[in-house]
Amino acid sequence: MFWFRSHRGDVLLIAALLTAAGVLALGLFLTRRDGGSVSVTVAGETVMELPLDADGSFPIDTDGGHNVLVIEDGSARMSEADCPDRLCVKTGAIRWAGESIVCLPHQVVVTVENGADGGFDAASR
Ligand SMILES: [Zn+2]
Repeated sequence: MFWFRSHRGDVLLIAALLTAAGVLALGLFLTRRDGGSVSVTVAGETVMELPLDADGSFPIDTDGGHNVLVIEDGSARMSEADCPDRLCVKTGAIRWAGESIVCLPHQVVVTVENGADGGFDAASR
């Protein structure tokens, strides 16, 4: 019966993993409405962490050129860039955790993250 027991263990493990994945997905869904903050990295180095609930415009100067990140209405967008492709400007606004704006020529990446306290504070706000 050893095989049976080990097989049963696998099934339980898979069930546990599926449950964990479901809980994680639910957590992401519940916290989705508040993106929290954006992190700005230049060439892999984090240069700014900005809360999405504080409007403003933030110049990002890199060796490659100049970008302007605008935070407005809980979302972030690249309003100006002097990169050749301007894909970052065309990306538009981002607001959900995990979304990002990438400016390849300038090696600038703006990513929405949940705040340090996760979504719980946001949910009770
Ligand atoms: Zn760009």
